[in-house]
Amino acid sequence: MADDPYRTLGVSPDATDAEIKRVYRKLARQHHPDRNPGDAASEGRFKEIQGAYDKVETPEKRKKFDEQKRMANMFGGGRGGDFGNADNFGGASGIEDILASFMGGRGSNPFSGGSSGTIFDQAGQPRRGQQRPQQQQRGSDIEAPLDLTLEEAQSGIQKPFTIGRRKQCGSCKGGGCSKCGTQGVIRKTSQITVKVPAAAEHASVMRLKGMGHQAPNGLAGDLLLTVRIDADEGRHWEGGRLIQTVEISYSTMMLGGKVRIHTPAGKIVEVDVPPNSRSGDRRRLRGQGYNGGPLDVELELQESGDLTSEQQAALNALRDSGL
Ligand SMILES: [Zn+2]
Repeated sequence: MADDPYRTLGVSPDATDAEIKRVYRKLARQHHPDRNPGDAASEGRFKEIQGAYDKVETPEKRKKFDEQKRMANMFGGGRGGDFGNADNFGGASGIEDILASFMGGRGSNPFSGGSSGTIFDQAGQPRRGQQRPQQQQRGSDIEAPLDLTLEEAQSGIQKPFTIGRRKQCGSCKGGGCSKCGTQGVIRKTSQITVKVPAAAEHASVMRLKGMGHQAPNGLAGDLLLTVRIDADEGRHWEGGRLIQTVEISYSTMMLGGKVRIHTPAGKIVEVDVPPNSRSGDRRRLRGQGYNGGPLDVELELQESGDLTSEQQAALNALRDSGL
């Protein structure tokens, strides 16, 4: 796709909505025309950022974009029937309460941020009902994201979730009547509670059997929820790896030193910065990441504000020394 908003914003396609908003705000501040008066390049970048964010600003817009991208990637492959989620969250009629539970564990997930539409069924369960007769058409699956905070993901949570799906028409039992427009199915919005097990992994997919669209015969597809963990300000995922960006002053970058960081578990940890470090250098901290995994600390050069006259003098002296 010509302009991928995720690429423009520099976020992973599986980032949470909240992370995308944070990144957008930061970039928009950085490139705002007020901050860069008369700079055409900055203005162009600002417009690019606005345009990108406009495509993924709301869950609905983002879903639409993701689907278009997936279709474009598939180049007309004949599985159109499986994209039943194109119209989910539409319509609204009776509300029903269902407690849907996810039976499954965790596993390593070689999720590659760039690929789209690939589903890793981590539950390790049979993908579909095995004994269904061939001629019985099953309803299509529904795919949707499930955004969690780091705390929710760590401890596990029962998360309310609203889902729009096709259900067998109660009046005709799928035979077709005027009430369902002879379709045999009607749209219903359901409130479900999803039980997310503790320590769910970012970008893993939970399969909730039978919670997808129903066919007129009552056979339902599954609901596939992609877990997206919001790693919080200054952190992001790269595949299954948690990266934390830490601002380092120029002098510490050059001379080395220590910097204190807050880990995802809320601990304060000192990180060694070796002399002659550069923006983008990473240090791996074992056991300080999500769920006891590693945390990769990425050094970033701190933006300096207005310089004091002493700092200016010191920098002048540095320049005179040839640095
Ligand atoms: Zn009907």
